[in-house]
Order: sequence, then structure tokens, then C-alpha cells
Amino acid sequence: MRIANVRGRLAIVPASIASILDAGVVEGVDVERASGGRFESDPQAVYPRWDEFEPWAKEVSLDRPDVVIRPEDLGPVVTRPAQVFAIGLNYAAHAAESKVEAPSSPPTFTKFPTCLAGPFSPVPLPVGSVDWEVELVAIIGREARHVTHERAWEHVAGVTVGQDISERQLQMMGPVPQFSLAKSFPCFGPIGPALVTVDELDDPDDLAIGCSIDGESVQSARTGMMLFDVPALIAHLSSIVSLLAGDVIFTGTPGGVGKDRDPMRFLRVGETIESEIEGIGRLRNVMIA
Ligand code: ZN
Repeated sequence: MRIANVRGRLAIVPASIASILDAGVVEGVDVERASGGRFESDPQAVYPRWDEFEPWAKEVSLDRPDVVIRPEDLGPVVTRPAQVFAIGLNYAAHAAESKVEAPSSPPTFTKFPTCLAGPFSPVPLPVGSVDWEVELVAIIGREARHVTHERAWEHVAGVTVGQDISERQLQMMGPVPQFSLAKSFPCFGPIGPALVTVDELDDPDDLAIGCSIDGESVQSARTGMMLFDVPALIAHLSSIVSLLAGDVIFTGTPGGVGKDRDPMRFLRVGETIESEIEGIGRLRNVMIA
């Protein structure tokens, strides 16, 4: 089952949402209308009711769609999470290119929630050195506190594609790194195109993941190469904080970011980054002034 934010309203969408950029248009079902008002249109409102919503939504037929969806209609499928977690150095290749040792526990920071954006949102470039980081994003569907590795996926509503866009000068300025601010400029957190429940994926722990700039591949890996997989991240985080329904976890980026290239490479106005994960879909974001 897949859900999306269509012009601010929650919709159930077909698997073809993954290739909406190629199709140009897909059709879905409006959740509030189809449920006769049982579930509201606000995308964020569904997560605290995930246990009730998921079995209902899985039975909804897409044979009689009532929502026409074009790429520009899609917003972030999570709009006001209480918490956004982001994980650093979660792939050996990225730790190595960053010239630090692979961590023994997952380094964690936040992206402030106002940076979340739709899957095809343009990204205004601030002054500085703006870099790309494609990441698998997990969205919590059931409150998690002291959750074991074995039961962690049960607390996930679904997954989506994310870009942890980062301004490296601010990130590394001053006496200690400023990860959270430097990764929270407006539109620095595009996610989408839809939330996908993990039963739709052949193996949610091992998906091809990649990023390209104007068609040139810059990151290519598998999520199975994570040092801490999604269940490990949830077990670790929930041993310290309560994870709430609707919270977002950016799970870290593979190797191939711009700051560690020789010469370094950063995003320029007019360039387009595409970020893709197998079975989920693709983001496309153009850099603007
Ligand atoms: Zn990241």
C-alpha cells in the first residue's frame, strides 16, 4: 500500500507513482472521501491512527480513482513530524571518504522539520557549498520505546526516498560541527514520491539506492550495506528517546558525496539531482537561485 500527499490531501496511490515522472500523471483515491470522513485529509493525522488505517487502506480498491495526480501536486508525505532523526556515517564507504573510523553506535542529529519538501520541489541554493546525500527514509507508525531489533519493523509505517541536502561550510564552521542547522535550509529535505509499506518490497533491508546529477551517477549502493540497518537504528534510538507515530528517520547516505571528491564538487544553479531507491521511486530536484 502506498500513500501520498496530493495538494495537501492524503491519497492512496498505485505502484505506478514510482514512475510518475515518466507517466506524467497517475490516479489515486482520496482518503477522506473514500472513508466517508472516518480518516481526515491531513496527511500527518494518519500516523497516530496507523493501526486502524493500514488494514482499511489495504482493502481500498484503486479501480475507481477520484484524484488526478501530476508530479507538481505531490507534497511531503509527512508534513509536521514531532521529530526528524538523521544518521551520519552509516555506510562504510561514506565513513571512509569522510576520513573517520566507522562508528560503533550511530551518530545522530536532526533536520528541522521545516526543511521537508515534496519529491519534485526546486531547492533554493543558499550561499555556500551545497552537497547531496540520497537516503532511505523510515516513517514511524507506532510509538516505539525500548524496541528490540526483531520487532523494530513493526513500528514502521513505511519507507520513502529522501535527500539529506547539506551546506558544508556552515556544517563545519566554528568550534563544533553544525550538522542540524546546515542541513535544514528550506527544501533541504525532499521526500517521496510516496510512503511505501514494507510488505510491498522484496527485501526492505536490501534495496538498490542511487543519486545522479544531470544524468551522471554520483552515488550507487545498496541499503543492505548500512552499518546499522533500520531495525538497529530503531532499537538504538528507542533505547534513549520515544519515537512517535509520524516521526521521520533519515538513515544515512552511501559513499559518493561532493565534499569528498577530488576536486570537491558542489551543486550549482540549474543542476538537477535525481535520487532513487528500488521499489519506492525517484525524487527529482532542480537547484534554483
Ligand atoms: Zn545524511
